[in-house]
Amino acid sequence: MLKATPMHRIDFARIVGRAGEGLFSIWKTTGKGECTVMVDFELSQGEREFKKKAETFVRNHITPHALELDVRNEFPREVVQKAYEEGLMNLHVPKSIAGQGRTLLEETLVGEALGYGCAGCATTIMCNNLALAPLLLGANEQQLAKYVKPLVTADEVKLASFCLTERESGSDAASIRTIAKRDGNEWIIDGEKCFITNAPVASIYTVFATVDPSRHQKGIAVFVVPADLPGVKIGHVENKLGQKASVQSEVIFEGVRVPEDALVGREGDGFRLAMMTLDMTRAGIAAIATGLAQRAVDEASRFAYVRKQFGQAIGEFQAIGFTIADMACRAAASRHLTRHAAWLSDRRLPNSAESAYAKWFASDSAMTNAVECAQIMGGYGYMEEYPAAKLIRDAKLLQIYEGTNQIQRLIASSIILKQAANLDTGFALKYNGRNAPKI
Ligand SMILES: Cc1cc2nc3c(=O)[nH]c(=O)nc-3n(C[C@H](O)[C@H](O)[C@H](O)COP(=O)(O)OP(=O)(O)OC[C@H]3O[C@@H](n4cnc5c(N)ncnc54)[C@H](O)[C@@H]3O)c2cc1C
Repeated sequence: MLKATPMHRIDFARIVGRAGEGLFSIWKTTGKGECTVMVDFELSQGEREFKKKAETFVRNHITPHALELDVRNEFPREVVQKAYEEGLMNLHVPKSIAGQGRTLLEETLVGEALGYGCAGCATTIMCNNLALAPLLLGANEQQLAKYVKPLVTADEVKLASFCLTERESGSDAASIRTIAKRDGNEWIIDGEKCFITNAPVASIYTVFATVDPSRHQKGIAVFVVPADLPGVKIGHVENKLGQKASVQSEVIFEGVRVPEDALVGREGDGFRLAMMTLDMTRAGIAAIATGLAQRAVDEASRFAYVRKQFGQAIGEFQAIGFTIADMACRAAASRHLTRHAAWLSDRRLPNSAESAYAKWFASDSAMTNAVECAQIMGGYGYMEEYPAAKLIRDAKLLQIYEGTNQIQRLIASSIILKQAANLDTGFALKYNGRNAPKI
């Protein structure tokens, strides 16, 4: 425990603001003009209860059906309805419009529980958090009441989709070609989106469109588009490798007219809102990945404990035991990175690099652990009746969507290199030496 005077608060913001350096810290005022800094990894009682609720839901309603849902390749309507009734969806909708006002840290607890049970169900259930984020970040009170409140007050679950990606515009999101033109006090939207999660079953879309392609990212705006408007059509429904309990399709907008209040924020706010959204939701994907990575550890260790070869449990062979230890370490590190990124975001502290670290490390860990799990299970690991095969197929998507892992490294490296401009390692003088590189 460290003692600090109130003036150290200034340093606190600076210290945690540096990429990757922050700690889980709590400030306590002692009442004598002093404050105490503690490093605290414990969840609050409310967080623990919420985590337990999510885990119980997964154990009762997802885990027993996950393999079957995968084989049937069907949208898990009953599971989603139940998750909605249990309060595990639309987590960040503020209390002022009948939502729960949950933190991102709480979302990661739900995400990990869902990812442990079935990453496909997790993607389906958590998609509303992604789709509603641009509204929660940029909409005014009237828009929130009109477009978001119905999603938390309806008896039957209502879904929303986040429509950014197009055939020619994936990682380079600023190059989208869906166009929005003003016509009196309406907007007309034309364009095609692809790979959109929950699109065939959603009732509203948050749609990114350009009002002027020549302005590149500054010309992008985001609109709320009800799915039942004339001109909105579902195109090709994607046939995927894994996460079969989630559904993705094209969404086609043909001369779709929306009122003026469908524009969230101002023209030109769209790209910023998309990036702010993804900064937030990356911790959610990292949480799903952490759950999957942990599931791989648990399936592998249980198998290694009971499976005997050469007269002993295979876990007693050092090669297997060490592999399981590495897997467990990856899952634990993923959890820490994930919760830390969420913790920073909840405190409105810089978190772009930390969210990127969490997303790529946790999803790479999920992929590695899933493959190792299959290896430890031998031939059984390759059979669809056992969990490892589905873990492998499901994990792959976590490395791709909401910004590929290369894009996460791009985000982090650009921040780190910007910070290097003012970095003093104490070694700088050496650059003036005789053999120094020209700088
Ligand atoms: C199942 C699924 C669900 C999805 N759900 C949604 C959704 O709900 N809403 C939505 O809008 N989108 C969604 N997406 C789209 C997803 O976010 C994109 O697929 C992803 O961002 C990558 O875009 P892309 O597929 O066009 O690949 P590309 O951008 O074409 O990338 C191809 C490869 O090039 C690499 N690459 C590209 N640029 C760089 C660079 N600058 N440096 C290094 N490497 C680079 C990529 O990392 C990748 O390996 C979903 C995708 C899938 C598969």
